[in-house]
Amino acid sequence: MTDAPLDAPAAASVELETLISLAKRRGFVFPSAEIYGGFASTYDYGPLGVEMKRNIRDSWWRGMVQERTDIVGIEAAMITNPKVWQASGHVDSFADPLVDCLVCQARVRADLIVDNVCPACDAVGQFTEERQFNLLFRTFVGPVQDDASVAYLRPETAQGMFVNFELVQQSTRRRLPFGIAQIGKSFRNEITTGHFTFRMLEFEQMEMEYFCDPADSMEWHEYWKQERLRWYESLGVRPERLRLRDHTSEELSHYSRGTSDVEYLYPWGWGELEGIAHRGDFDLSAHAQASGKSLTYFDQERGEHIVPHVVEPAAGVDRIMLTLLVDAYDEEVDARGEKRVLLRLAPEVAPTTVAVLPLSRNERLVPTARRVWERLRPHFRTQYDDSQSIGRRYRRQDEVGTPLCVTVDFETLDDDAVTIRERDTMSQIRVPLDGVVEALRERIEALRPVVREAGNA
Ligand code: ATP
Repeated sequence: MTDAPLDAPAAASVELETLISLAKRRGFVFPSAEIYGGFASTYDYGPLGVEMKRNIRDSWWRGMVQERTDIVGIEAAMITNPKVWQASGHVDSFADPLVDCLVCQARVRADLIVDNVCPACDAVGQFTEERQFNLLFRTFVGPVQDDASVAYLRPETAQGMFVNFELVQQSTRRRLPFGIAQIGKSFRNEITTGHFTFRMLEFEQMEMEYFCDPADSMEWHEYWKQERLRWYESLGVRPERLRLRDHTSEELSHYSRGTSDVEYLYPWGWGELEGIAHRGDFDLSAHAQASGKSLTYFDQERGEHIVPHVVEPAAGVDRIMLTLLVDAYDEEVDARGEKRVLLRLAPEVAPTTVAVLPLSRNERLVPTARRVWERLRPHFRTQYDDSQSIGRRYRRQDEVGTPLCVTVDFETLDDDAVTIRERDTMSQIRVPLDGVVEALRERIEALRPVVREAGNA
């Protein structure tokens, strides 16, 4: 028995091991450098994984930058002037509390220990004193490795937006409120590992700094919380496994005036998917002070300089991909009693949207199927597969989340029509080849998850 209320949502039921195995077998995610035994908390993405990551990034960029009028993008360097990280507080304060288990010697993040139990060996209360452990990766720039040549791999992309605030504002002539967005790699020497790609040493972030008038900043914080939740719903994540949770005052980062996490109910419990922080004027003020440059905004109506406040939705591509896979995983038993594994991925993020399958490798079918494939390639993310039986090929596409298959059979040779088969319902319809692109587009549109109305701010 658990003490969860009766109407509590059910956590995603797929075992992480099952998903890790599928991800490796089908080319989503591999252990990094597996031939050398891998490397802790480091993964490589395979052919289907890179497609899916790209779709996640594209969806975020479209929604955050291209479809909006108030946000622009940048790409800043990953290794930059170390003064950035001194001013931002990362050199001094970007640390996690670390303890060692006295029984099994496991290194554990103290703030993640539940009921004083070691997560590695279950020993109770057998820990060393807490020490602070800085998460920054250090490196050296130039041929001499001394204190003067120390630089850091960026632990977040956000600082790129703050140090470029003035250049972006002036080059684009933006008025408040406006945002600067960036997608790119970040690096953290994480103590706690595990849960697959949930926590890695090297990962990709999608962050947006929304600069606004301090008087409106709480309203914008609320607006972005709702917007970000809606985005996850638009990617098909089950709403009952999503929630917003406000940080307690003890949890708040050194820069934050208030943070709310979008959390997901993972197989191991609720966990952070994205953080939405109200950073106040912490960063602009800190960089203005450290650099001696004024990082203010001239408010023409009031005729005065102000330091904007910042609301920051900060998400991780790898963690989102893991969440989408966990959420989409499903198993069914078909009419013949056979197990069907499927990923119910939204078409927007599925690695492949349309698979083209000739009924068999028959020499009359294959050239026709290849012509159909050629016709579809400019419009959809496609795959062609003619190996093994058609039933097995449908299952293979189900297992990697392909929403639609187009089958070319002997009738096609006579009637110039093909069958469209849907992943979720396994229903099939026959459509003329002439209208196949439009028919597929309609189906994709119909499969798009329904989302709530946009909030207003
Ligand atoms: P956590 O409490 O899980 O360590 P955090 O609060 O330090 O995360 P943020 O600094 O808010 O994370 O980073 C924003 C987002 O970047 C996170 O919500 C997550 O999606 C992603 N992220 C952060 N650290 C990692 C990591 N080590 N591996 C993968 N993704 C990460």
